[in-house]
This record gives sequence, C-alpha cells and structure tokens, in this order.
Amino acid sequence: MTGIAANLKEVRALVDATIRHSDRRRGEVTLVAVSKTWSSDAIREAHAAGQQDFGENYLQEASEKIASLADLPLTWHFIGPIQSNKTAQIASAFHWVHTIDRVKIAQRLAAQRPTSMPPLNVCIQVNVSGEASKSGVLPADVPQLAAAIKSLDGIHLRGLMCIPEPTQDMQLLRERFRTMAKLQTQLNLEHKLSMDALSMGMSGDMTIAIEEGATMVRVGSAIFGKRGNN
Ligand SMILES: *Cc1c(COP(=O)(O)O)cnc(C)c1O
Repeated sequence: MTGIAANLKEVRALVDATIRHSDRRRGEVTLVAVSKTWSSDAIREAHAAGQQDFGENYLQEASEKIASLADLPLTWHFIGPIQSNKTAQIASAFHWVHTIDRVKIAQRLAAQRPTSMPPLNVCIQVNVSGEASKSGVLPADVPQLAAAIKSLDGIHLRGLMCIPEPTQDMQLLRERFRTMAKLQTQLNLEHKLSMDALSMGMSGDMTIAIEEGATMVRVGSAIFGKRGNN
C-alpha cells in the first residue's frame, strides 16, 4: 500500500470510530481530501484508494489539476479565499464552494454558474473566532447573507464553514465547533432554511469537529503528508 492509501485508510478509520462513539449515523461525514500543493498524481493515487472529494485553495493550481484529472469522476471543493474576478472560473469548475463571505461573490457565482450544470453547493464561511480571525462573516451577519443566497438561482445554500483561530487549546476548538452547530440549528429554525452541511475540522482537530456535528471534514496533511515536504 502506498503512503497515501495507508494514510487514507487510517483517517477513514478515525472518522468512522469517531462517528461510532459520538452516536451518529454512519455515512454522515464527507471526507474532503485537501490536495493543495500536491500533484495530480497524488490525487490519482488517493482516488485509486477510494477517495472522491478533493479540496483546493488556489484557483490557478486547482484549474490545472481539474483539467488533467477530467477522466476521473471527482467532486471538487473550493476552500480558499475568493477574488471577485475569479468567480466565473470557480462557478464552472467546482461542485462546492465553502468560503462565501459576501453577497457580491454569491451573486456572481450564481449568475456565472453554467445552466447546464446543477446548482453550485455553497457554504457561508463564519468568523467563529471573532477578532482573532479575519476571513468569514461574523455570526450576527450570517442571517442576512443566508437570506440573500437563498433567493439566488444557480447556487444552493448547503451550510456553514469555519476555520477557527490556530490554537492548541482543544477545549476552545470544541467550543467554536459547538457554536457553529448551534448557529446552524438556530438559523434553520428561525429563518426557515434547510442547511444540512457543516464544514469544519482539519487534520489536527477533525475528531472534535465530528463529535460536535461536522458533516464535512477538510483533511490535508494527515492524508498527503506535511506540506513543504513535497
Ligand atoms: C489547508 C486547509 C485545510 C487542511 O489542513 P490540514 O491541517 O493539512 O489538514 C483545511 N481547510 C482549509 C480551508 C485549508 O486551507
């Protein structure tokens, strides 16, 4: 077994074990393999080991890989910051966008999504750590953005995403993830939304995120190895 296949097996086992001990239904968590900085060959290797969902942060890099892997039935997730002059490319190449943080970006993605494709799945990026993190929408501003997205054709509001501040404090991370889950439940109830996706958790904190309700974990280094060594 290659390194990537072995790592994937380990990560999947960890995800499954966490789902079991958190008393959740199996199959509720999508593992998104974050392949930024890694080659198309590494992605092929992961796909051969059964991986379907891949996350990329940089459009230029992602576009080249998506083109060279067009023969594989992969699901692509855009998880990086979005520049408004890049939305057309994102709208036509990806299945999911996790990092919507302003209405203008949502409107552009919706208008530019090719009508031949199903609606683009999107998540609102929430600045769950307040001042400590700069990207994302503050929790208080999420309802307004969610309502605006809901009215758009071409994109489908699926849920919320967060990147908490970097910290070794696992209890703090757990609180951040719990805040996200509560926010989603509350928004669904009070604003008649039906968000079903919660994108949170990375290599270092995926088990805590799953325990707190993540439905998608974005895992890079635990699958492909430490970035910078490639
Ligand atoms: C790089 C990245 C990840 C993966 O991080 P790892 O610690 O390597 O698992 C997840 N989410 C986002 C938004 C990222 O940029």
